[in-house]
Amino acid sequence: MSATELDLIVIGGGVNGAGIARDAAQRGLRVALFEQHDLGGGTSGASSGMIHGGVRYLETDRDVTRKSCEDSGFIQAMAPHLLFRIPFIWPLLKWTPGARRMHELAYVYFQAYDQFQPLKKGKQAAKLTREELLRVEPGVHPDAIGAVTTDEWAINVFRLCTLNALDAQAHGAEIHLRHRVEGFVRGPTGHVLGVRVRDLRTGHARDVHARVTFNATGPWAGRVAKMAGAKVKLRPGKGIHLVFDRRLVNYALIATAVDGRQVFLEPYGQETWIGTTDDDYYGDPAEVQATHDEVSYLLEAIETVFPKVRDYRIVRAFAGVRPTLFRYGPHEDDLSRSHRVFDHTKDGAKGLMSMGGGKLAAYRLMAEDATDQVCSKLGVSKAGRTHATPLPGGEETPATEVVAEAAGIDRYAAARLVHRQGARAHEVVDRIKKNPRERRVLCQCEPVTEAEARYAIENEWVHTLEDLRRRTNCGGGPCQGARCARQAAWLLAGYQGGDPELAETLLARFVTARWREQSPVLSHGGLPQLELVRWALRRSEG
Ligand SMILES: Cc1cc2nc3c(=O)[nH]c(=O)nc-3n(C[C@H](O)[C@H](O)[C@H](O)COP(=O)(O)OP(=O)(O)OC[C@H]3O[C@@H](n4cnc5c(N)ncnc54)[C@H](O)[C@@H]3O)c2cc1C
Repeated sequence: MSATELDLIVIGGGVNGAGIARDAAQRGLRVALFEQHDLGGGTSGASSGMIHGGVRYLETDRDVTRKSCEDSGFIQAMAPHLLFRIPFIWPLLKWTPGARRMHELAYVYFQAYDQFQPLKKGKQAAKLTREELLRVEPGVHPDAIGAVTTDEWAINVFRLCTLNALDAQAHGAEIHLRHRVEGFVRGPTGHVLGVRVRDLRTGHARDVHARVTFNATGPWAGRVAKMAGAKVKLRPGKGIHLVFDRRLVNYALIATAVDGRQVFLEPYGQETWIGTTDDDYYGDPAEVQATHDEVSYLLEAIETVFPKVRDYRIVRAFAGVRPTLFRYGPHEDDLSRSHRVFDHTKDGAKGLMSMGGGKLAAYRLMAEDATDQVCSKLGVSKAGRTHATPLPGGEETPATEVVAEAAGIDRYAAARLVHRQGARAHEVVDRIKKNPRERRVLCQCEPVTEAEARYAIENEWVHTLEDLRRRTNCGGGPCQGARCARQAAWLLAGYQGGDPELAETLLARFVTARWREQSPVLSHGGLPQLELVRWALRRSEG
């Protein structure tokens, strides 16, 4: 596609940018997406991954709750293999003022949320006695007097971003990763005619023209709009998560932090996450990192409902920045999660649009809204169909036993493959049938077979080991790559010329990226253990 033929340039490959590219390409627009880093490498991949209605927004943002529940239902239908149910339990502790009354009130509140549950196949709220609570989650603090429950869903966000980009590509869109938009091409009256974009791998810069340019850069949206003299006013909020190397609970637990905020302990795949903080953030979103204080704040809160939490190993802490719409005054938690599409014509930058605010759970709806507005500018009347078309692999969820038997892999490995690839698992199985050596397990923690890693490298824009982690979770488990990163580096380097030096460079970059998430949670024996891993991975350096 020549640059002059483009209808739409999308800046940003988070869930919103990838979602817009998919919707626009499905409607027949000629689209190019530019992402400076990797799909889901910004806020999207640093979220809690909840495709929920946001029970806590029910009071203040009822419309957001309803729309998110509605969209959650659509997302479940588009990619059933990517979602997993997470029932939430809110234990009430006897020393909480008015605990008994709270037990009743919380149940009434969750019942009010029940009216939206059918939209997302959620179960109704339940009120648990102390005995019932301790039976389902024995690790809960014995001071609990009972609990209430509500039902939610989570998703593999990195895969969600990738699948949107793959579907956009299947409908003709160009997807350019590691491409940074550094400025805008302007007409004599300031009209935005396209972007100045640099390929960060070659250093080469070029101008690309399109009829509309859409800034879907999440927390970067204000900075990007500013390059065109336009304004997107956000109130960015930093949030962190702690990741344990195993499942500590089968249900998510809600706890109250020292400042009254609610935080949670959530089973996520074979890990457990604690989330999250929400603090005004003024720095560069690319530099955001968890601090020791934030780690202590979350552990202190969770300890009130799950006393043994400090006995388990935290493998990493990740951080992201919410692109929340600006309002002066409210506490971070109380800011609206609604979204807004900005048309920058009034800023003298006709041809440029941006998006701010919103939630992962309503990304499809937000992308549809954005694409509707782009289409109306372009005079295209075709309506969006993303709610009614499966994402790649979402057409069917193969039975685990069938995949395990056909590929000759164990059922656990097959279940993880099906979770990530859905119907595309058949293509990985076909690889194994043609080349049985690819059945070998590359990453044992997850597990990931060589065939799946190769499939991702060949079809899903994998350039680095971190990209491979985001696509398959290879190197993302309890050992954080200690056992598989070297082999994965050699595999990937094989696709990039096979130079041994390159394999070492890929490995070194991976270790540095992991260190960034591991360093905030190191304590006691953690540092020497991590140094040992780093030494083992770099042993060939002598
Ligand atoms: C801690 C936390 C927890 C959250 N949990 C949930 C949750 O459970 N459920 C929920 O519904 N929502 C949640 N959210 C909100 C949700 O994650 C965001 O609304 C959503 O991910 C925003 O997606 P995005 O595509 O707009 O932004 P991003 O994912 O940040 O994507 C923007 C992309 O633009 C790229 N970019 C920036 N500048 C340039 C440039 N100059 N050139 C090219 N590319 C550029 C970036 O690299 C980035 O990849 C959470 C957010 C946080 C921070």
